Amino acid sequence: MTVAVGGPRLLLRRLREIMAEQTSAQMRLDKLVTVIASNMVAEVCSIYLRRAGKVLELFATEGLNRAAVHTTRLKEGEGLVGLVSETAEAVNLSDAPSDPHFSYRPETGEDPFKSFLGVPIVRGGQVFGVLVVQNKAERIYAEEEVEALQTVAMVLAEVVAQGGFFNVAELDEPELRTDRPRKFMGDGLSDGVAVGHVVLHEPRVKVDRMIADNPVEELKRLEEAIASLRESVDQMLVSSELDLTGEGREVIEAYRLFAYDQGWRQRMRDAVRTGLTAEASVERVQDETRLRVQRLGDPILRERAHDFDDLARRLLRHLTGDSGQQQLPRGAILVARNMGPAELLDYGREKLLGLALEDAASTSHVAIVARSMGLPLVSSLEGIADNARSGDAIVVDGETGEVHLRPPIEIVAAFEEKRGLRVQAQARFAAIRDLPAITKDGVAIKLMMNAGLEFDMPHLKESGADGIGLFRTELQFMIGETMPRLADQRAFYKSIFDAAGDKPVVFRTLDLGGDKVLPYARWEREENPALGWRAIRIALDRPALLRYQVRALLEAAQGRTLRILLPMVSDVDEFNRGRALIDRELERARLLNQTRPTQVLVGAMLEVPALAFMLPQLMRSADFVSIGSNDLLSLAFAVDRTNPRVARRYDNLNPASLTLIRLIVQSAAENSGDLSLCGEMAGRPLDAMALLGLGLRTLSMQPGQIGPIKTMIRSLNISEISSFVDRLCGRTDHSLRTRLAAFAAERGIVLK
Ligand code: PEP
Ligand code: MG
Repeated sequence: MTVAVGGPRLLLRRLREIMAEQTSAQMRLDKLVTVIASNMVAEVCSIYLRRAGKVLELFATEGLNRAAVHTTRLKEGEGLVGLVSETAEAVNLSDAPSDPHFSYRPETGEDPFKSFLGVPIVRGGQVFGVLVVQNKAERIYAEEEVEALQTVAMVLAEVVAQGGFFNVAELDEPELRTDRPRKFMGDGLSDGVAVGHVVLHEPRVKVDRMIADNPVEELKRLEEAIASLRESVDQMLVSSELDLTGEGREVIEAYRLFAYDQGWRQRMRDAVRTGLTAEASVERVQDETRLRVQRLGDPILRERAHDFDDLARRLLRHLTGDSGQQQLPRGAILVARNMGPAELLDYGREKLLGLALEDAASTSHVAIVARSMGLPLVSSLEGIADNARSGDAIVVDGETGEVHLRPPIEIVAAFEEKRGLRVQAQARFAAIRDLPAITKDGVAIKLMMNAGLEFDMPHLKESGADGIGLFRTELQFMIGETMPRLADQRAFYKSIFDAAGDKPVVFRTLDLGGDKVLPYARWEREENPALGWRAIRIALDRPALLRYQVRALLEAAQGRTLRILLPMVSDVDEFNRGRALIDRELERARLLNQTRPTQVLVGAMLEVPALAFMLPQLMRSADFVSIGSNDLLSLAFAVDRTNPRVARRYDNLNPASLTLIRLIVQSAAENSGDLSLCGEMAGRPLDAMALLGLGLRTLSMQPGQIGPIKTMIRSLNISEISSFVDRLCGRTDHSLRTRLAAFAAERGIVLK
């Protein structure tokens, strides 16, 4: 096969004509293979499409036996065609029949054909089928031939996916059909039930502008768009005035490097040269990158691919002149592959009901923001972005992880009912908002809330929380496109103090690293990021970062008590060094005669198990300690919380966790230390019941959980739970959940 005179562009034009014809789907398919075969000087051209159960069926062929059409079927991974589909990569062989993957199908009559080139028909990271050309002579197809066939496959994919070419009903392919109800099971990352309609975040570029009329012009458009994209990213750099001994600047420049990546630009230019429009070329390169990264399954590369996704979207906006801002209809539920936190904030809370995403982790920034906004979010929904159409009915249950696309009326009714019950429960919680959190036997518990964005502040009053037990300052850094300047930080902290009024706020200093990465930062790849350069370790190595933050906090806290919490402290010396940096800033403020806080209290997060054995010493220099049970238990069990394979392998309610927390509580009490807990456990009624039994008296949680936790507390007898939990520590169960639930049920302790 060689590419015929006129090259792929001529072929693409012919394809466009065929697509526009008013004939049956099958006839158009038959014509397509003939045209592709003759234009590419191939003796065979075949199209295989995926049917239910990942079976690939021969849908059309030129050169093979026509009787095999709709008869020859291959499973994914079976034969060379199955291999192309499974790996989503081109297979190029000079002697196909001798390849171990070759699966001989006598009905096709393909034995005389030696050379084989198969490319996946891919769209949006999903393989829809395989396009194959074959020749009798033994030869390896040249790179430009592979490229040309991939371009044709991309056009085909777009048409198959949109159902505009094939009659989707004819295909009888549930996975490809977009009109049937579908249920997805994912991970609930933010609680709540939403019943509404699909709004596709970042709708894809339409197919009508895929084939270029004038390639020279397209190349020019691409170059202009890249230039203006770069300019806008440069602008970000110029607008950042924070000079962190060169470090801050370096961090921002890293993001810019992506925009200047020459490989990326070259791949898009090459795609334009095959006859695609600039928009289609951006998409094609993005699809390829995404597929490559998906197969590698490396979480760091995934984050990087997300950056390229983001840049590709920006580039498309530069090309189309679309600002990217969508007017949301009421009752909108966003469906997307992934989304940045700032993008979610842009949509606002007013009309949005929930989110269904393919690829966000529970600690991802978008999940954190969704929880702050009180929006139900389900993730790990493979294929939903390609399956959903704008306006489809959709139900999202953030509690169970269920998502129903185009659900039958009964399902909608059932979820409406569930949502109604939740609203009633919320009304119950609102009614007890001003009642104290006191157990039946008279023990008062302090209930604080976790926060990190301005969005969270109204919840302080609404929830009746006693204050903010954990303010995650890194969120302000994570959701922006550039590093916040000193003045921005100061203004932000001041607004938090003002919104909190008389209630205390515990500001945790930057907890970056691990899974918390800055969009504009260049992060060195680490084998084990959770055990790597993060939180206070970064602060001590880059003291300017911490000192600027403390400076902003001191200036914002004028005349009030400032509480600072240092994250991921591993030993007492580390804490003391952190505290010394804070003291230097205090001294600076004194020398400058600035109004200072009335009091500065400095605490340590207890997230590293080693620190649990150092409490007597720690309590001599720390004013308070807060247990970060998320990290503490993940480190104690040696489990990566962000890895779905192992994340659910251990239960927080294991005898070891309870024994560890008991040790911490006892050690803090012996040293008259101020101890609290601010991990996710604090907000789960059953877990919190056990924590109270272990002796904790201050818990900090998501504001939405204050009501359920207070209800539990008001129906609980501390003396009973204390002796029960003490006994549980001696058991061998993998999880003590069932025993604790039975205990609660017998005594009428309310856990909902
Ligand atoms: C924790 O580790 O429990 C904690 C509260 O910190 P984060 O969830 O922000 O890591
Ligand atoms: Mg933590």
